[in-house]
Amino acid sequence: MEKVNVLIIGAGVIGLSIARALSKEFEDVVVVEKEESFGRHTSSRNSEVIHSGIYYPQNTFKAKLCVLGVELLYDFCEKNGVPYQKCGKLVVATSEDELPELYKLKENGEKNNVKGLEIIDEIECRKLELQITAIKALKVNSTGVFDTHKFMQKLEKETESNDAFIVYDMEVISIKKSENGYIVNFSNGELFEANILINSAGLFSDKIAEMLGINIKAANLQLHWCKGEYYKTTKVKDIKHLIYPLPDPKGISLGIHLTINLNEEARFGPNAYYINELNYSMDDTHKDAFYDSIIKYIKIDKEHLSLDDCGIRPKLQGPDDDFRDFYIKEESEEGFPNFINLIGIDSPGLTCSLAIAEEVKRILNR
Ligand SMILES: Cc1cc2nc3c(=O)[nH]c(=O)nc-3n(C[C@H](O)[C@H](O)[C@H](O)COP(=O)(O)OP(=O)(O)OC[C@H]3O[C@@H](n4cnc5c(N)ncnc54)[C@H](O)[C@@H]3O)c2cc1C
Repeated sequence: MEKVNVLIIGAGVIGLSIARALSKEFEDVVVVEKEESFGRHTSSRNSEVIHSGIYYPQNTFKAKLCVLGVELLYDFCEKNGVPYQKCGKLVVATSEDELPELYKLKENGEKNNVKGLEIIDEIECRKLELQITAIKALKVNSTGVFDTHKFMQKLEKETESNDAFIVYDMEVISIKKSENGYIVNFSNGELFEANILINSAGLFSDKIAEMLGINIKAANLQLHWCKGEYYKTTKVKDIKHLIYPLPDPKGISLGIHLTINLNEEARFGPNAYYINELNYSMDDTHKDAFYDSIIKYIKIDKEHLSLDDCGIRPKLQGPDDDFRDFYIKEESEEGFPNFINLIGIDSPGLTCSLAIAEEVKRILNR
């Protein structure tokens, strides 16, 4: 049996960020990942947006770690040559009845300490984005886009240069508490014993917690998978800012937005609907609804939209629930000391990743 000090399950953006942070301070850190390389699930199937922190209720992990995470992420990208663009975004109101929500969003962002928020009128909006229809917009300067693949590559490299290991094709199938820590069993028959165990298994993080005997239903930690699809077009050009509608009132999604990636390609999405099976296939079932959302803020022909990609959100918030925060907790109270669960790390998980890693380090050092 292999003995390690810290074992991290999952090499998405969260597991890699934690590995990078811990490998600077802790001996013998190992990441195990069931796929053959990093970021094969949610971390490479998203909008690649660096969020500002305007949406989330005050004092939640999502609010605090997003505002901190933005700073850490821009700094990391700058120092490590990860391509990014701090392009800013406009949240647009397209009818009078949306205005109260727009003002509320600004107020919420300010409460969360997001700087430089400004409501602009139709003329100002036109000056910034000629093609966009809006009666007013919230201008958010700190929003940007970045290259998530390069980001994860850099995290992997730095982790390995700190003498930690990332081992692929290693699927955790069961976990048992031992006298000194945790014995983890893999599908290839290998066994590892770890003093500290970190669950950053994304869509499967509730199942990992369950393997140790945590009753995820009773603890209200059962994940709901919520799919988000994207359409792309070559017909929209010269957009400088990301364009967002007002978010879904229940907070399930931020609405079908327009992003321009680093190659200046336009992409719309994601939509949001709950699913029961892990399935990344796509068809045009939702195209009409998609188009109806987009057409409110930009004129485009439906036939110019083509299917792009999709991702699946690991949400604690079910279809009938209100807002749920990230669950980040050391489980001594449940009888599992030095076992840290990260469950329900949906958006803005990318933006928060480096701040989440600092939070995990703080938990282990207290
Ligand atoms: C459509 C969509 C759009 C989004 N847009 C944004 C955005 O613009 N900005 C933003 O900040 N956030 C965004 N997010 C959220 C962000 O992508 C996630 O919060 C983040 O990627 C989660 O990373 P993760 O490492 O927790 O999960 P993952 O990337 O899923 O990584 C978990 C890893 O664990 C591995 N694993 C699972 N089970 C096991 C096992 N038994 N054994 C070994 N390994 C295992 C998996 O293979 C996987 O690689 C979006 C998400 C979606 C779905």
